Amino acid sequence: MQPRDVSRLEAGPFDLLVIGGGIHGLSIACEASSRGLRTALIEAADFGSGISFNHQKTAHGGLRSLQSLSFDLAREAIRERRALARIAPWFVHPLPFIVGTYRSVTKGRLALRAGFKLDAWLGRDRNAGIERELHLPPAKLLSRGMTLKLFPGIRQKDLTGGAQWYDYQMVENDRLTFAVAAAADAHGAVLVSYVEAIEAVREAGRVTEISARDRETGRQLTIRATVTVNAAGSRAGDVARMLGGSQTVPLLAAMNLVTSIAPREVALAAPTSAGRMLTLVPWKGCSIVGTAHADALATTETGPSTADIDTFVREANEAFPALGLSREHITLVHWGLVAAAVAPGKPPDLLGTPIIRDHAKDGAPGAITVVGVKYTTARAVAERAVSAASSVLGRRIRRSRSASTVLPGAALADHEGLAIETAR
Ligand SMILES: Cc1cc2nc3c(=O)[nH]c(=O)nc-3n(C[C@H](O)[C@H](O)[C@H](O)COP(=O)(O)OP(=O)(O)OC[C@H]3O[C@@H](n4cnc5c(N)ncnc54)[C@H](O)[C@@H]3O)c2cc1C
Repeated sequence: MQPRDVSRLEAGPFDLLVIGGGIHGLSIACEASSRGLRTALIEAADFGSGISFNHQKTAHGGLRSLQSLSFDLAREAIRERRALARIAPWFVHPLPFIVGTYRSVTKGRLALRAGFKLDAWLGRDRNAGIERELHLPPAKLLSRGMTLKLFPGIRQKDLTGGAQWYDYQMVENDRLTFAVAAAADAHGAVLVSYVEAIEAVREAGRVTEISARDRETGRQLTIRATVTVNAAGSRAGDVARMLGGSQTVPLLAAMNLVTSIAPREVALAAPTSAGRMLTLVPWKGCSIVGTAHADALATTETGPSTADIDTFVREANEAFPALGLSREHITLVHWGLVAAAVAPGKPPDLLGTPIIRDHAKDGAPGAITVVGVKYTTARAVAERAVSAASSVLGRRIRRSRSASTVLPGAALADHEGLAIETAR
């Protein structure tokens, strides 16, 4: 990658300026530059150091979306899980998940069998174009005996057996984020970390410049761009207001615990006593339990309190009674504010559908806000965001090839070759 050079940001105007260097901003920069747009990106801290660092590393295939009958979201998740295995096979790994089936209409074998049939149909091309070693087997039901063997401590009352499905784990998720940054850089995008957007400058109502601060020197600079894309993650609401948009982004705190507890070979899924589904996933010699989210909207950016962590430890032990989790096992707390969906009369929940808002609708043309909901689907969101930006630019741009172009250093062959070279 090019060394950090703030002066390159002043060599605008750019077609597109991205604010925020998490997985969404970096994917947008990669998508835009690969499709021929002159692109810059500023990140207030390290690339990928926000929520894109704090996640549970599962490339979800959309089973959750099926539960709410959101077929489009489920299909997109399956497609994007496959895209990750195509463009970054080195960084993903098939991971089996197991959940208990119970004497119940919604959690019983019949319901899961039907769900898996639908999933198999929606995901019939899930392995197309993927290295054989990364093919995902079909989901299946397990006997009660096998479930007890694979899921020690599972709640046994009314247990009829289990169900097993596969997703990918993004084992090296930070390297995956950096591979996207490296791809954007290779396509000519100017990426600069430790530069924070502080003000939008408008000409005749249109956002044409962003004032930013170099956080290393304190120097203020101006970046000119025809379209500014706000991909500031949990700060997207603040940045949208700065750009003149009316988009509000309610937030919920979400958390995982990385623990020193020896991992099992399979990931386990089970509900807390309040019915919230948690997963326990093996990762690099540790076990990660997550994802808990708060019941009320976040009002501050302060991380979790000791009481929040203790509550989560209790819930994790309810869901996984054999875990024996205590505070001493916790080696890292993944925590972040994620976008929430708010509906009258209902508790806030995680936002299910990404937002791409052209602020021309708010009287602030030249600016777009992007709010993603999953690391897994960031590429697809970026593809749509760049298409929206091309409409604002009034320019036809090249077709997207990001779902099939292998990221730098992410191919299986690269690493095999390197290992052979090193051995020589
Ligand atoms: C606990 C937890 C577990 C999760 N587990 C999973 C999972 O297993 N699988 C999955 O697919 N998804 C998961 N997610 C969701 C996923 O992590 C997020 O959807 C995704 O990482 C968000 O990426 P982002 O780029 O939008 O935000 P971020 O990664 O937060 O990036 C936004 C960036 O914008 C920068 N920024 C903010 N303001 C400015 C400014 N003014 N100027 C310049 N830069 C600015 C910030 O510094 C930040 O780096 C999880 C989320 C959480 C919190």
